[in-house]
Formats: sequence, structure tokens, C-alpha cells
Amino acid sequence: MPWTIRVKRKFYAAHFLTDYHGSPEPLHGHTWTVEVYLKADELDKGGMGIDFVEIDKYLKEILPDYKLLNEVFDFSPSAENVAKWLYYKVKEKYPSVVKVVVWETENCGAEYYET
Ligand SMILES: [Zn+2]
Repeated sequence: MPWTIRVKRKFYAAHFLTDYHGSPEPLHGHTWTVEVYLKADELDKGGMGIDFVEIDKYLKEILPDYKLLNEVFDFSPSAENVAKWLYYKVKEKYPSVVKVVVWETENCGAEYYET
């Protein structure tokens, strides 16, 4: 019986799209929210699929907190591109990742998964 383990974390970062309808977008910041979804087929003796604390700790290590994303990445740091980057970064440590969602605001975000 499969479970989906979900962990959500916020980080704070500035960015601008390098080409927003033909010209660079003005620099601005967001409180980004990321959600990571991992599949767990079995639970341990304590009833846990994957330790939330470990995933959260890993996210804390890899998320570019208090950074200018354009200086961190060699791609235009849209929510879509950050979601794709995060998916493969999480997959390095957690191959059971199913998808990630990256929210720029409360209402606008992008998810990435493999089809
Ligand atoms: Zn933005």
C-alpha cells in the first residue's frame, strides 16, 4: 500500500526573469514555498514512511535561502525552472520523489514531475 509523504518548507529569495515578454523583469523578492512529494511503499516499525525531519533538513541545506536566484542558477529562475531543478536535486538523495511544487506567492506556483 503506497503512501505519499509531503514536506513543505519556505525560503526567502529574490529573482527576476531574464526575459519577461521581451525584456528583463525588475528584481523583486518572494517568500517561496516548496512542497516535496515522496512515495513510500512501506512503513517502518514506528509507522513512518520517510522521516519528515530528515527531508526538511535536506531541504534546508539545498534551498537558496536569502540569495539572488539569478546568481545561484545558470537558468532564468522562474517557478517552473526552480521546480525542475529542485525535483532532480531531491531525487539525488530521495529517488522516490514523485513531484515538487514551487510557489512564488500564495496563489501562483508550478509543479514538476516526470511523466
Ligand atoms: Zn517573481
